[in-house]
This record gives sequence, structure tokens and C-alpha cells, in this order.
Amino acid sequence: MSDFTYSLDADGVATITWDVKSKSMNVLNLEAAADLGALIDKAIADDSVKGVILTSGKKDFAGGMDLNIIARMKESAGDDPARGLFEGIMNFHALERKMELMGRDLKTGKGGKPIVAALPGTALGIGLELPLSCHRIIAADNPKAKIGLPEILVGIFPGAGGTTRLVRKMGAMAASPFLLEGKLSDPKAAKAAGIIDEVVAPEDLMTRAREWVLNAKPEDMVKPWDAKGYKMPGGAPYHPTGFMTYVGASAMVHGKTQGVYPAAKALLAAAYEGALVPFDTALKIEARWFTNVLMNPSSSAMIRSLFINKEALEKGANRPKVEDQTVRKVGVLGAGMMGAGIAYVSANAGIEVVLIDASQEAADRGRAHSEGILDKGMKRGKVTAEKKAEVLGRISATTDYAALAGCDLIVEAVFEDPKVKADVTAKAEAAIPEAAIFATNTSTLPISDLAKASKRPEQFIGIHFFSPVDKMMLVEIIKGRETGDVAVAKALDFVRQIRKTPIVVNDARFFYANRCIIPYINEGIRMVAEGVEPALIENAAKLLGLPLGPLQLVDETSIDLGVKIAKATRAAMGDAYPDSAVDPVLFAMADKGRLGRKAKAGFYAYDEKGERQGLWDGLETLWPVSDDQPELTEAQHRMLMVQTLEAVRALEEGVLEDIREGDVGAILGWGYCPWSGGPFGWLDIVGAARAVEICEALEARHGARFKAPKLLVDMAAKGESFYGGTAAKAA
Ligand code: NAD
Repeated sequence: MSDFTYSLDADGVATITWDVKSKSMNVLNLEAAADLGALIDKAIADDSVKGVILTSGKKDFAGGMDLNIIARMKESAGDDPARGLFEGIMNFHALERKMELMGRDLKTGKGGKPIVAALPGTALGIGLELPLSCHRIIAADNPKAKIGLPEILVGIFPGAGGTTRLVRKMGAMAASPFLLEGKLSDPKAAKAAGIIDEVVAPEDLMTRAREWVLNAKPEDMVKPWDAKGYKMPGGAPYHPTGFMTYVGASAMVHGKTQGVYPAAKALLAAAYEGALVPFDTALKIEARWFTNVLMNPSSSAMIRSLFINKEALEKGANRPKVEDQTVRKVGVLGAGMMGAGIAYVSANAGIEVVLIDASQEAADRGRAHSEGILDKGMKRGKVTAEKKAEVLGRISATTDYAALAGCDLIVEAVFEDPKVKADVTAKAEAAIPEAAIFATNTSTLPISDLAKASKRPEQFIGIHFFSPVDKMMLVEIIKGRETGDVAVAKALDFVRQIRKTPIVVNDARFFYANRCIIPYINEGIRMVAEGVEPALIENAAKLLGLPLGPLQLVDETSIDLGVKIAKATRAAMGDAYPDSAVDPVLFAMADKGRLGRKAKAGFYAYDEKGERQGLWDGLETLWPVSDDQPELTEAQHRMLMVQTLEAVRALEEGVLEDIREGDVGAILGWGYCPWSGGPFGWLDIVGAARAVEICEALEARHGARFKAPKLLVDMAAKGESFYGGTAAKAA
């Protein structure tokens, strides 16, 4: 059955309704696009048809193109994939151009029928590009609806005419947040911005669309860019204001992306070059740049990790097959920075929360944290007074463990001290039902050791949040030696409820994310000790697309925490401790009270308000800059490889069980170069053989921490890749 159906009423208004029966949200695939084309032809050819309404049979219009298909388009594009892709994209342009003209002859201006898009709700990606090819877009006043072109967020850009049409409709400056940042709007905001033409009450949507079709005048059927004397809003590139826009946009985009995202550059190029030529040529240019982006391995890696695999993990790809474990009442132990955040995200998701601390004052302070977040939301108009009352009403702050009665999940976030943790575990277990699951938010203590304090170790698990809890999307779930399936399912169902992305890993020092982040920070500090120019270190990292340089990162997470971790790791590892070269720098900074941003002094200097001012000039006195500075690439290889190899070792040792989790976790957990799709994605892009070569060169110059793991060496020898399958399955 086709995803599009066609009906014709007595007045000659044809309605084409999009309804993908197998899905809750419409997404477009290639067959459905061909079907839509055939229905448009039918409407054009039928003299009894006066005009067409394109709408949806669902509450929303469409979520976009099926990204699974985009991810596979290159593979299925034949022996000459660039040509295959380009031709495939041009087919979309032909379909949309057909809709835009509806049989009108461009030369004579004769013929044509009106076509209107009637959007009941959300319209994203190609779900907005198709409406942009209609003569008018009318949306139902549905404040929950999202309208926009979010392609850039998964490493592509609106390449089915969206870029060319939006720039011509709004002008480059006005279109830029929607194209370059993937900004989404509700219908009213989309109308105010000029993306859509009209917003009506939901019940009037189809009546109004019909009325428009029946009353459309010939000039209503001509898009501005097809009309005589069209001038681009805001000016074309050689117009004085247009010139400023394009030059500024280029610098701004490069500053934000460091040039590592191929889609951002291609989008700008398509917009700029397209603005210099007639409309149909602009579409061809857009198609060529879109082909260029799809041919770049970065786009498929980003779609894979940021969309397909992220969604698979959120939907429980690795959830044990046990019955539903939806959390109804959670007990949070410790109302400090983490506990307060966990209480907020839980209450916000509709879960009843008991928030416990050692004193009532501390517990109340923890609850006030939620109030603060909700107040900010109210100021921005995102939260209503009722919503605030509702969320706060779900959190009871207390010191009384008896209040934990009826909790089906406990998340412990007290001090990082095994004794304190054991004490609260025993107290909580005395109050909660037998079947409840107990989770710890520890970042450094082994789960299996903490589980010894529990009467029910198979119901004991790690649920590791990142700070700040309300902003960070990753949650690391850690299985101890005895953790059972129900506990894993409970943790996964909880993470689903609070709408975050989970990864499930096994218990080992620093689990997964911190295990990779610490060597990255340490590599930066090591370079300071070696006399590498600190600005070179920071910029080399940022030019890779890492959100923070290692020195800024350690300032953020705090240097005393680094010292604490270094001391504990040394005590645990003895002679095998690998970071002796790092400690003198870290300890010296701590001795000087330069503890990072919280102390307004660290590797960076800060002003009174705590704003970062630049690298601290005292660094060069303590660790003089050497005359012999490394090449940029050398510094980048060190910082990228040191964290990537840790991810590979985590897989080799079975801490990670699934490379998808390794990649999604790295991007969401610490911002590992999103353009690469994650550490395994990056290794697949460079290839195992080249990666081993880089490791050998680094090992020779900098030591054994760069020794290529056996898994990688074997893959290089066999010519395998991670997502090619073999290594992933073996691991
Ligand atoms: P915090 O010091 O801000 O909060 C700890 C809270 O626990 C305090 O409010 C304290 O009063 C309370 N507490 C201490 N002993 C208690 C007891 N016996 N009974 C009840 N409450 C008690 O610490 P935090 O940063 O929120 O960290 C909490 C846990 O989360 C630690 O295990 C830490 O390793 C982990 N963690 C921290 C981060 C981070 O970025 N800070 C990230 C992930 C995990």
C-alpha cells in the first residue's frame, strides 16, 4: 500500500494524504517519493482537478527523510556512487519543481494549478522541503508542533531544495539560524519568521486549505523566484548588504565549526553559489554539494551515531528481555550537586521523588535546585506556574529513611566514600521493598565492591550521570559482577523515562567515559610539562572539533579532583601507574591554589566574575616553553589517539560490549569529535592500518601508552573495519 492516498471532491479539490501505516510519524522513502510524483502527475493531467491539498493522515505532517535510507544511499548508488547520488537527488528536485509549477509553462506563464500544504503538526526536513515547494503553507495552531530543517545536526544539510528555497524565500541572513543551526519553531514562530504563510485553528485547517485552493489567483501560483523582477531578500552576494552577510557567515561558521564539519561548509557554498545563478541552476549546485557531503564518510558516521544508533540505544537495543520496569517512585540519597540534579530530572519526567540528605537543610537546598531550574524556565516562557508546582510537588525533601517505603528505585549520590555509601545502602535497604533496585552514581568506586554492602547484590547497579545532570544527555549504566537482568532493565527504563541516552558497560576502573577522558586531559598536561606552548595544545584540540581543550576541561572539572584521582590511581596501580609525568604539574597547580574555574584560577586566568580571560601567563614561568614545538598534527594525533585507544582497550577488555555504545557514549559523554561518529567511527574513517601506523610513530616518540592494541593490529592485518562487523562481533 502506498504511503500517499488521493481523493477528489465534487468541487475539484484533490487531497493527497501522507500516512505511513507502519510508523507513528511519516518519513519519506524513495518508493513513496515516486508515488507522490505519480499522484501530482495525475492531478495535473485531470482537467476536473482545480487544485491540490498536500496533507497528512496523522497528527503530524512528517519527521523527514528516512535517515536509514540516506545512510545507505552511497552504498546503493552503484559503481559510480557520486553520479548515482547526484541523479537520485536531482529526481527529488524534479518532483518538487513539478509541484511548484503544477503544469504551468515557465516561459509563457500559462497553465498551472494551485497546491497548498496543510500541516497538522510537526514538519521537519523533507517534511518541510516538500511544503516549501507548494504555493502556500498553512499550519494548524499546534504549539507542540516543530517546524524546521534540522539536517545539519546529523551531519548533512537540507539538500532537497530546502537550502535554495529558504534562502530565496527569506534571505540568507534570516535563513541562517534555520539552516546552519537547525533551529526549530512552533507554527506561530515559523509564521513570524516567514517560513510558513498562515496559521489557523486546528479544526479549520482543511477548510481553509480548500478555500485557498478554490480562490487562488494566477499570481498566487507563482513562487517569488519564478516571478519577473525577483530580488533576493537581504540582497544577493554582490549587493552591499548581501556581501556583508555572506562574508560574515563564512567567518562565523568557520569560527564555530573549526572547519571540521563538511556539511556546514557545503551548505554555505550551496547558498552562496546558488544565490549567483538562476533558480534551476541553484538547485543543481545544491545537489552537487549535497552529493559531496553524502560522499564524505563523516556524514554517514554522524547519521549512524547521532541518529540511528542513538535512537536504537534509547529504544532499548541492549535491554534484557524482562517485563516493563517503569519507575514510579525513586529515592535519591544525597542532595548535593548530583543528587539534586537527579531529583529534578526524575520529577520532571513525572516520577515521584524522595530526596534524602543528612540534614533537613541540605535536603531542602537540593529541592531548591529544581525550583531554580524551573524559575529560569518560567522566565524564558518554557515553564508554566502549574508545571512548576506539579514538578516541585513530586519532590519531598527529608532526612527520614522511612519515607523511602514504596520506592522501586534508589539512586545514591552521597560523598565518594565507600564507608558513607555502605552506611546509606544499609539504611535504605531496611526501608525499601524487597524487589527495589539500588543504584549508585559513583564515578570512581568499583560497583562490585560497593555491592558488598548490599543484601541483594543482583539488584545493585551503577547509574552514572554526568554534570550538569539536567543538561548532559548520556547516562552510563554499569553492571557489577553480580548485577542481574532486572536491575539493568530497571536502569534502562529509568533512563528512557527521563529521556536521556543510555550505554551499558561492565565494571572496571573509571567505567567507560572517564576512562577515556582522563588520558586526554593527562596528555594535555603532559605536553605542558614538556614545554609545548599551552595555546598550541588548546587550539590543536579545538581544531579537531573537541569542545574543550584539555587544560580548559581540567579547569572545569577541577584540579583538586584531578589530584584526588591521581593519588587514588597511583595507590591502586603501584608501579604500573602510567602518569608520573603528569602529577608534578597537577600537584604544583593545586599547591598554588589554582584549582580551576571554581577557584577563579587554574590553567586559565579568570576575572572576578569567574569569566575565563585566557591562559594563565604563570604557566610559562613554571614550565618554560621549549624552542622545539611539535607540528600541529603531532599534537592532535597525541590527544585524539590517547582517548581513542582507551576506547579500543575498553572494547578489547569487554568493558564495552557494543561499539555503538562506545561511539554514542563518547560523543554525548565528552564531546568526542562528533564529525567522526565517535572513536570507532574515526578509526573506520582513517582505517585500521593507518591508525596502527600513527600509533607506531607515537609509541616510538612518546612511549608505550600509544602501543596499538592487538584488536586494532589484527584488524589492520585482515583489512577489517569496526562497522564492517567482524571485529565488533568478535569483541
Ligand atoms: P556533593 O558533595 O555535592 O553531594 C553529596 C551530598 O551527599 C551532600 O549534600 C551531602 O550532605 C550528602 N551526604 C553525605 N553523607 C550523607 C549521608 N550519610 N546521608 C545522606 N546524605 C549524605 O557531591 P556530588 O558532586 O553530588 O557527588 C555525589 C556522588 O556523585 C559521588 O559519588 C560522586 O563521585 C558522583 N558523581 C559526581 C559527579 C560530579 O561531576 N560531581 C559526576 C558523576 C558522579
